[in-house]
Amino acid sequence: MHDPDSDEMLATLRRKAESLATDALPAEAAAMSAEALARLVHELRVNQIELELQNEELRRTQSELAQTRDRYANLYDFAPAGYFTLDTRGVILEANLKGSTMLGIPRTELIGKPFGVRVARLDQTAFHAGIGRTLDTGLPQTLEVRLTRRDGSRFYAELTTEICTSQDLPPAQTTLRMMVADVSLRCEANETMRQASLILEASPAYLIRYPVIDGDPGPVSFVSSNIARFGFSREDLLSGERSPRSLVHPEDLPRVEAALRDQAASGRNAFALDYRILTKNGQVRHVTDRVQFTRNAAGAVIDVQGLVLDVTESVLARRDLETVLDSAPIPIVKVRLAESGDRILEYQNPAAERIFGPMNLGKSCKAYLCNKETCPVLTDASGLVRDRECSVTTLDGERIMYKTARKLPGAPYIIEAMIDVTELMRTRERLTKAMEASQTANRAKSQFLATMSHEIRTPMNGIMGMLELATATELTPEQHEYIDLARQSAQNLLEIINDILDFSRVEAGRMELARRPFAVRATLEGCLRLFDGLAARHGNSLVLAVDQAVPKILIGDPGRLAQVVGNLISNGLKFTKKGTVRVTVAPVMPLPGTDGRQPAAPVGLLFSVADDGIGIPPDKQERIFDYFTQLDASLNRGAGGTGLGLSISKSLVELMGGRLWVQSTPGQGSTFFFNAPFDLPEKAPQHGQTPATAPTAGATVPPMSILLVEDNFINQIVAKRLLERRGHVVTAVDSGAAALELLATTPFHCVLMDVEMPGLSGPETLAQLRDPARFGEAAQTPVVALTAHALKGYRERMVEAGFDDYVPKPIDMHELDAALTRIANGAGSRTDRP
Ligand code: ADP
Repeated sequence: MHDPDSDEMLATLRRKAESLATDALPAEAAAMSAEALARLVHELRVNQIELELQNEELRRTQSELAQTRDRYANLYDFAPAGYFTLDTRGVILEANLKGSTMLGIPRTELIGKPFGVRVARLDQTAFHAGIGRTLDTGLPQTLEVRLTRRDGSRFYAELTTEICTSQDLPPAQTTLRMMVADVSLRCEANETMRQASLILEASPAYLIRYPVIDGDPGPVSFVSSNIARFGFSREDLLSGERSPRSLVHPEDLPRVEAALRDQAASGRNAFALDYRILTKNGQVRHVTDRVQFTRNAAGAVIDVQGLVLDVTESVLARRDLETVLDSAPIPIVKVRLAESGDRILEYQNPAAERIFGPMNLGKSCKAYLCNKETCPVLTDASGLVRDRECSVTTLDGERIMYKTARKLPGAPYIIEAMIDVTELMRTRERLTKAMEASQTANRAKSQFLATMSHEIRTPMNGIMGMLELATATELTPEQHEYIDLARQSAQNLLEIINDILDFSRVEAGRMELARRPFAVRATLEGCLRLFDGLAARHGNSLVLAVDQAVPKILIGDPGRLAQVVGNLISNGLKFTKKGTVRVTVAPVMPLPGTDGRQPAAPVGLLFSVADDGIGIPPDKQERIFDYFTQLDASLNRGAGGTGLGLSISKSLVELMGGRLWVQSTPGQGSTFFFNAPFDLPEKAPQHGQTPATAPTAGATVPPMSILLVEDNFINQIVAKRLLERRGHVVTAVDSGAAALELLATTPFHCVLMDVEMPGLSGPETLAQLRDPARFGEAAQTPVVALTAHALKGYRERMVEAGFDDYVPKPIDMHELDAALTRIANGAGSRTDRP
């Protein structure tokens, strides 16, 4: 457009026109010919056209210029970076559109404000320093700062500041141009990289890379710095002096290289290898190497990357475990619970292999580990397992194992350890059988003893009754002595039988205690009186001391209390010569009940029976309470006894709720103690609750007509004579049927009836008798049961059966008198007839 030729032509034309228009024009115009004028006019026209063309050209150029300016303005505004013009104080003079959108602030609001307010506080110093340096040095400066948008969010920005020089501007009006680039993405990527490398550094694994050149490992191209864990520096490996496989333990190297070759040939690209490496100072570490191949288009491996993890600790821990499992003497197995519900043997230790054989790995364990359909150790899907006995099939046949099973948490595996309990189970079975047999035998024995003692008591009844009757006849002194001795022997025999009966009852847990009011002192006095003879024979004195504070009447079993005290007195007298046996009783703190808080009963008594006899050696003091225990036989010889007394006494005291014990010094004597709780009677004893030792009215029983029903002939005679001697009129029959026949026609004051009779038993006879339709008033005749069953609670059972009273056999005349007195007094009697 700016053609220099046309410029020059324009200048010539302008000069001509000027000269025409000025002073030369009138003279020349006058002198000019018409021809010359016409030529001039023509030229002017040509020039005018030319000028118009030039003008046109100028307008076009101007419009093009405007377009170019707009394009540049757009470029400025929509450039990928923010552009700011700042004054030297950092105040924004100009900003492009990108700059304003980056900050989220309209340009109008940015202009006139310091750029610094958008810079994060932490980066202020760096920002101002950057500006300062730009101004000082005149060189562009680049720095990275965080900028704050209007909404408060931040982004990383790279600022490049430079001085905007212009000759037109005085130095005072120097401005700065600042280019702002959002580098958030780059910064985030850098941050991610930094984190990744931190993780890599912190990880127990190191990363190593090397190329493969012609099938051989090339020099290490990368190794992470935590190779230092193994004593090496990165440079050690990157220098190229060491081959990437030089760390592998020489013994493992051939295997590792073979594996790498195989994997390369197989086409796989990712796999793991376990081997050992030697650290720089020669230590052995176990590693797992996760290898990654990179292949070229032809499939050849060109690069190898390994992530090498130090697993020494877990390898050693596993070794320890393996040692334990290998040396464990008991079979231990690992079983996998397959989805199908089957259980597959995954591992067995040598002990298991020895008994199950080596061939079972990978097979279902159902056939031999246990032959149950559903796994008995797994109680449900939750994997709860329990220990149990299980029958297993071993190489030697069926065995019984006690298994403890544990499910691995979160994994479908069970670990089972087992102990062969076959012998134990067999022994247990044998023992159980033996125990059952012995229990049966014991029951039979107890039954036998009970029957025997009953059977023996019946003839004893006869013997003692007859002896009793015989003593009442005319006898020579010699005969009298013989009969007395016979009676004593019979009495001893009866005591032994009673002991055996008690023993069998205790054994069978059938010992029961009575609960009735009794006078403590009278009971003890009566008990002592029985031993007067024995005491005299041994030259001993027998003393009773009852503490003032002991209540007169208590509730309990006076018979059993007397039995215990009597036993202890008898022992004391037996093992003492010319000494003293002293019985004392005093109140003590009541014993606690079973709950340990409330006393078992309001009154606690402590009894003691002390002698100054031979004493008991300390090591024997426990044993004497065992059944059938007698100490030194030579000492006991002549003392008699069965070795049952103390054990029965102990059981009785314990049944009462107390305790029996001994203190003894050999050569000085023994003191037996026992305590027991008793209740106090609520009110004065009533009829029927007569204290056991209340005097009986034997002598005052009025003569009665008595029907005696007794099948044993001798017992019949004994009872008849004893009763007749007391003035009663006795009619004896030997069966229930005979009794009923007689009772239908003949009135009696009272019937004494044996309970155990062949044919109609006592209770059966009684039941028939009580029918008023058949017997009228006779149905009400009082009936006293006679039985050799001396069991406790028998009286209650007899009364329940409808008997009016009960007298045990062998008949004690005191008891019979007492019963008859009660009948005569109307207690239990139903009628006053005849
Ligand atoms: P036994 O009926 O044979 O007397 P016990 O069970 O009553 O049986 O007593 C067991 C043993 O305890 C006695 O044989 C005796 O050796 C010993 N023994 C019991 N009481 C005394 C005592 N007071 N002094 C010395 N030894 C005693």
